Amino acid sequence: MPRFAFAPLSPGRILSPMFRYECTHWDGKARRGRLTTPHGEVDTPVFMPVGTAGSVKGVTPDQLRGAGVQMVLGNTYHLMLRPGAETVARLGGLHALMAWDGPILTDSGGYQVFSLAHLRTLSDDGVVFQSHVDGAEVRLTPERAVEIQRLLGADIIMQLDECPPAEAPRTAIADAVRRSALWARRCKAQAQTPCAERVHEARKPLILFGIQQGGVHADLRAESAAALVELDLPGYAIGGLGLGEGHDALCEVLDATDEQFPQDRPRYLMGIGEPRDILAAVLRGIDMFDCVLPTRNARNAQAFTWAGRMRLRNARWAEDPRPLDEQCDCYTCRHYSRGAIRHLFLAREMLGPTLVTLHNLRFFGSFMAAIRRAIADGDLPARARQWAEAFYHEDASP
Ligand SMILES: [Zn+2]
Repeated sequence: MPRFAFAPLSPGRILSPMFRYECTHWDGKARRGRLTTPHGEVDTPVFMPVGTAGSVKGVTPDQLRGAGVQMVLGNTYHLMLRPGAETVARLGGLHALMAWDGPILTDSGGYQVFSLAHLRTLSDDGVVFQSHVDGAEVRLTPERAVEIQRLLGADIIMQLDECPPAEAPRTAIADAVRRSALWARRCKAQAQTPCAERVHEARKPLILFGIQQGGVHADLRAESAAALVELDLPGYAIGGLGLGEGHDALCEVLDATDEQFPQDRPRYLMGIGEPRDILAAVLRGIDMFDCVLPTRNARNAQAFTWAGRMRLRNARWAEDPRPLDEQCDCYTCRHYSRGAIRHLFLAREMLGPTLVTLHNLRFFGSFMAAIRRAIADGDLPARARQWAEAFYHEDASP
């Protein structure tokens, strides 16, 4: 496989009738490319904001587009409990519910079941848990996880996986690797089963990604990847990271990723959004990211900028007439001062969280676009060092 910039792999591997991944440039292991989905094209590496319950909190789809968002993630766990997958389907699917006509990826619900729900039983068959909404007992199997995502109508769906906590003993993580591989096989079989009911777009082929587990254990990660690759899936995700293992351990796991997964499939690092981690992951061959970081931190009055983070409740911004980031072209930076945004937060105006969300989404969009340009220029390692120094220097507030 050629490993230099401007090495087109044309015409792109057709991974399903409606899904394609094309890698257009390499810079070391870093890849720039394009995903073609039923709802449009996505330039990679890409960051997906999280639309937990059918909404990226506080912003409209027009605003998402304006901020440069290409693709969003929906949480199966939240949507299956409320309003329910069948209800979403009857409303025309998740695209209609969200009024978003761009690509959507849904997770399988596994991560939230293991982190949010009160778990009743876990077996090779699936999980039984108590809904955090109404206390009802819910059963989630690999087959049901696929059917829920089919009902939601996502462009990319994820296998059900078992995501043990970071502090779990090695034996528990090994068991999760074995069970997740078994579930990947069952999810693939279900995804290939034609849908009996006629629901919205139910006939479109399902694009299923597998999820690697294995914690920080190199041998378990390798075993997990091998089991998934054997299934020849359209894409592969790295799960079970960002759980407190730390940046260096994350990098060690990702050092092996490029060799573990085929070059012609997209790779998705789940739940990671810290800019330092994104840079490290892209340098190791990752193409897709999702995280609540830009949106959740915005609601807590924290803005991401090219010169570091700003805590907007801080008194130092009270009479600062400058925009959040003088390099930013977002709606917020074109119209509002730091002092004005600080005032909106202190006065508990709902516009405050919306404005900072718009800015943070724009920052992450610009950041990923800058990464893509650097890969095309063959200059990512040097620029990554400069950006990281600016983001994380000692007084990182501009
Ligand atoms: Zn801005």
